[in-house]
Amino acid sequence: MTIQALKGFKDILPDEVGTWQWLESMARNVFHRFGFEEIKVPILEKTELFARSIGESTDIVEKEMYTLIDRNGESITMRPEGTANVLRAFIEHGLHVRKPLQKLYTIGPMFRHENPQKGRLRQFHQLSVEVLGTNNPMVDAELMAMAWVLLQEFGLSASLEVNSLGCPQCRPQYKEALVSFLKGNKNDLCEDCRRRTLTNPLRVLDCKKEKCRARYQEAPSILDYLCPSCKEHFQATEKGLQTLSIPYTINSFMVRGLDYYSRTTFELITDTLGAQSAVGAGGRYDGLIEQLGGPSLPGIGFAMGMERLVLMLSQQKKDPFHQEIDLFVAVLGNTAQETGFILIHAIRRKGLRAVMDFEGRSLKSQMKQANRHNARYTLILGQDEIDKKEGVLRNMATKEQLPVSLAGDIGSWCDAVISITKTQ
Ligand SMILES: [Zn+2]
Ligand SMILES: [Zn+2]
Repeated sequence: MTIQALKGFKDILPDEVGTWQWLESMARNVFHRFGFEEIKVPILEKTELFARSIGESTDIVEKEMYTLIDRNGESITMRPEGTANVLRAFIEHGLHVRKPLQKLYTIGPMFRHENPQKGRLRQFHQLSVEVLGTNNPMVDAELMAMAWVLLQEFGLSASLEVNSLGCPQCRPQYKEALVSFLKGNKNDLCEDCRRRTLTNPLRVLDCKKEKCRARYQEAPSILDYLCPSCKEHFQATEKGLQTLSIPYTINSFMVRGLDYYSRTTFELITDTLGAQSAVGAGGRYDGLIEQLGGPSLPGIGFAMGMERLVLMLSQQKKDPFHQEIDLFVAVLGNTAQETGFILIHAIRRKGLRAVMDFEGRSLKSQMKQANRHNARYTLILGQDEIDKKEGVLRNMATKEQLPVSLAGDIGSWCDAVISITKTQ
């Protein structure tokens, strides 16, 4: 029996990696333009960190975390999302002392024991972004604008939905109104929603069941319960989006799966992956840093799922990110092989991506390999070419054969090859 990857864990094979690298470099480019800096944080953290931040009665903490007891008997967890451990690092290193406004991003894998489905894996990857140290609504608008720009530059489209979840002063009144609505409609709700009415009532609005959704059309809206300062904050956030001409809609039934959100929440929704699904989501978490033992500073962030971005890209474009090499050296005979060995080393040191064959295969078979490597050029090198001091450089796209001088030392061969590959 061969050993296979775990369910919900996926290899990203070389054919696909180009897309991932492209996504990451585009994202870094956008983040840097908006003043963000990268932070790299561990995958394993103390379990307590996630229980305290995400919330004990959330699906993630209740049933989705990869938690284990390590060899010292300590409970540790593989991060299920990106915010908590960035905040842990922010607090631990007192980053706010160095710079009052911190704009941080991290890119990497997250782990949740969910039922795997299209675009949802147990190890998944996120672009995760945080702005720490301000509750200015212009920052909320700017962050959503950046998420929107990011998708634009990926060549993807999604619609931005925005909501406010209020604050600890006004949310309890809404919760109360919602719970009484839910109790009044108990018989029409699914079992999950009935359970959540008692444990985490806001989450019922996330229910995907048609019957529940229909009921919730008449549920009270949180926007009618915002206190004056939350209302003002939400209006200013909207104004910021309008000022930057970012298209959005208000969805007052959007709640987020994590307990720590307050005020602004948002999702980027796409319908290109079958059912409507979020390709990115985020929100404000003003009490969270303090709740984790840090200074009393507000924060806001979002995350985008990279698997979904890759899926969306693969639907739109035809393999635009394949890896290619500059030069394949096809060698015929022992002397040519030895010369090719030296040449290819010199060419790589000059900055070109180059591959050769060591197995003494036929020219036809080596040309096939050159194509599989997506070589731009193939240099054909045999005893004849070495004797004549002239080789043949084949442009793999146009099939044109160009003579290349093999006079002088290997260094001048390199220059001759490079000058042709650069000009064409
Ligand atoms: Zn409020
Ligand atoms: Zn339901």
